[in-house]
Amino acid sequence: LFVTLEGGDGSGKTTQAEALGRWLEQQGRTVVRTREPGGTEVGVEVREIVLHHRGDITPRAEALLYAADRAHHVATVVRPALARGDVVIQDRYIDSSVAYQGAGRVLDPVEVKSLSVWATEGLAPDLTVLLDLDPAVARGRLDEARTRYDRLEAEAAEFHARVRHAYLDLAAAEPARFVVVDATLPVDAIAATIRERVAALL
Ligand code: C5P
Ligand code: MG
Repeated sequence: LFVTLEGGDGSGKTTQAEALGRWLEQQGRTVVRTREPGGTEVGVEVREIVLHHRGDITPRAEALLYAADRAHHVATVVRPALARGDVVIQDRYIDSSVAYQGAGRVLDPVEVKSLSVWATEGLAPDLTVLLDLDPAVARGRLDEARTRYDRLEAEAAEFHARVRHAYLDLAAAEPARFVVVDATLPVDAIAATIRERVAALL
């Protein structure tokens, strides 16, 4: 079972991934928690470039860097875990690229998606949790929690608004794969909604 979490920074993906992982382990499942970018050793290096390089990276180069991280991660971590029968819970996947490199950087979302389909040899999640949050609210949460800012956080409000709407469009186009949750709800209420959808797939 392959579950991905999506949503803007500060929407609570990591908190929910942890909660879901704990619950699945209580159900006797073996869980692999991972993330993109940065779920492998080479991915950690790519993450450093895409998030902290000082200076511009062209949109197409950025899209290729995320795709490179993803190709290596899927081949060396995600597919082997799924082949063992483990549950993979992953912070961010292809939908992030469609939202950020597509809508955010204004690349063709169909092209951005097909790049990732090629990179992953077509591995799709069984379930994608979208934690939907107003970027202004997310901004406030991040300002409280952050110790190190990344390049994306300097983007204008319109960038983050495009990302949010791209996510909602993706969810609307594939309702069977997505569960969309209001990220302002209490952590436990969100976790319960996610568990319900995951339980139906076990
Ligand atoms: O969620 P996480 O902290 O790992 O995300 C790191 C940063 O990378 C965020 O600012 C996110 O917006 C950005 N990102 C991106 N395109 C992706 C994945 C992440 O711009 N495909
Ligand atoms: Mg984060």
